Amino acid sequence: MAKKKKGPRQATGLKCKVCSNFNYITEYNKMNEQLKKQTTGESTFPLMKYCKRCRKSTEHVMSKKLK
Ligand SMILES: [Zn+2]
Repeated sequence: MAKKKKGPRQATGLKCKVCSNFNYITEYNKMNEQLKKQTTGESTFPLMKYCKRCRKSTEHVMSKKLK
């Protein structure tokens, strides 16, 4: 039987840093994120994403609140 594995994937929201508009919901791997920080010192976030309100690509940061 195949089991559903619950990995370290976390659902998170992405909101625009400029206008705080909640734009995306995404999943990210917590383990990969930590590993990346340890090895390269870089973080996946903030991400450059298109914001409808700003009508341009802006930095998007993680938002803990998921609706
Ligand atoms: Zn915006």
